[in-house]
Amino acid sequence: MRTKAQVAFVLDLSLLGMNDCQIARRTGIPRRTVVDWRRHGGQHHGYGKNDQASEEPDGLCPICRQGSLNSVQYAYLLGIYLGDGCLSACPRGVFRLRITLDLRYPGIIDECIKAVTAMKPTMKVGRVKRVGCVEVAAYWKHWPCLFPQYGSGPKHLRTIALVPWQQEIADAYPADLLRGLNSDGWRGVNCVKGKPYPRYNFTNNSSEIRNVFCKACDRYGVAWRQMNWKTISVARRPDVARLDSIIGPKS
Ligand SMILES: [Zn+2]
Repeated sequence: MRTKAQVAFVLDLSLLGMNDCQIARRTGIPRRTVVDWRRHGGQHHGYGKNDQASEEPDGLCPICRQGSLNSVQYAYLLGIYLGDGCLSACPRGVFRLRITLDLRYPGIIDECIKAVTAMKPTMKVGRVKRVGCVEVAAYWKHWPCLFPQYGSGPKHLRTIALVPWQQEIADAYPADLLRGLNSDGWRGVNCVKGKPYPRYNFTNNSSEIRNVFCKACDRYGVAWRQMNWKTISVARRPDVARLDSIIGPKS
């Protein structure tokens, strides 16, 4: 039995321009089923007129409708999503974006909520306290449009590469992307011969997410080096100063 969320995801992928074969490969749903849902709007499966009618008046999705996208906030949110976020399918074609953030940094939590809200002004954003962290959550049918990296399983086991419109935003706003990515990064101080040297480390299991970080550094004019297989380090003083000008110690 297929769920409404699966139907919704297939229809969203179709709206994003993927063909039936690509959707079948991506979702594991047989191509004939994909064709059927696309032709009939998934109505045999309960994803039909009622859902469309009850959908919020969100001509606001900037990807599959004609809403406008706040690219600066999106670049930041994309960074946070790649580091700390995940999407999961819920009933009625709705998806939950969940971002887990450290409770010690209320400034980052506030900024994250601001970025989520910027995607749709009527968005209700919840926060749930857990031990040492807070989960920021928001429900929307169009999260997979904004994050086509959506899929099951850990990010480092699936394709994360940015699609062209995301890459354009990443290239245009590398500082905001880097700030978002750094919600999951580390800024610390090494002491060499008694002198403090601040540095940044960015650690991620996904080579593609590390690549997004490195490309953003290149674009922003910050030199980086691979410290070990999953950590990128920024340690030269002018580069640290450049990151400090947009990130700085977490707060
Ligand atoms: Zn959409």
